[in-house]
Amino acid sequence: MDKAKKSLLRGQFIEIIGDLKHYIAYQKSLGTEFLPGAAKKIPHHQPTLTEVRRELGECTRCKLHLTRRHIVFGEGSEKARLVFIGEAPGEDEDRQGRPFVGKAGQLLTRIINAIGLRREEVYITNIIKCRPPHNRNPQRDEIATCEPFLNKQLEIIKPTIICALGTFAAQTLLKTDEKISQLRGRFYGYRGIKVMPTYHPAFLLRNPYKKKEAWEDIKKIQGEYTK
Ligand code: SF4
Repeated sequence: MDKAKKSLLRGQFIEIIGDLKHYIAYQKSLGTEFLPGAAKKIPHHQPTLTEVRRELGECTRCKLHLTRRHIVFGEGSEKARLVFIGEAPGEDEDRQGRPFVGKAGQLLTRIINAIGLRREEVYITNIIKCRPPHNRNPQRDEIATCEPFLNKQLEIIKPTIICALGTFAAQTLLKTDEKISQLRGRFYGYRGIKVMPTYHPAFLLRNPYKKKEAWEDIKKIQGEYTK
């Protein structure tokens, strides 16, 4: 090999080593560890509900932050097998920062107790975490902005059953425009979780004759829960 060719190869070799050094430095900045022999696995951090709540912070991601008093994140067991998801906080919830604490919440508590559970054993939350002014319906952009936090909650809790309370919860989870009266009464799939849509407790307070149908839905949830 002549001198010029040797010098060219040497230059290319030095360039490759330089690139490699940069690559290793970049990977280390990302947390990758280089060990001789087998690669060391970095344990994946599983966030907690407290961390997701911290990430949400004093959220201003959508316009509802302008009128809310408190964010209503959700409460209950981080290991709940059954999660109740409503539409949005109402006036009492907005004041207290807790989900389902008004009259509708008291009815939900009675429903939970009727299937042999306590509120602390399930998880209760809403599709959106701030009260819409005058309890108007949540708007599409508000749901789209807030929904990722609900998904994070569900990824941590990993329930086997969700009870979707009312039209908005059911339509948001199931990505449909069908009415709750058509959706209720049977299980659907959502990210591997069984979803039972039923009437919202506030609707049941206004339409007590619908309680019989809601109770049929709740008994199906109980049957699935105790399997
Ligand atoms: S509804 Fe959700 S996205 Fe909108 S401000 Fe409240 S927490 Fe943030």
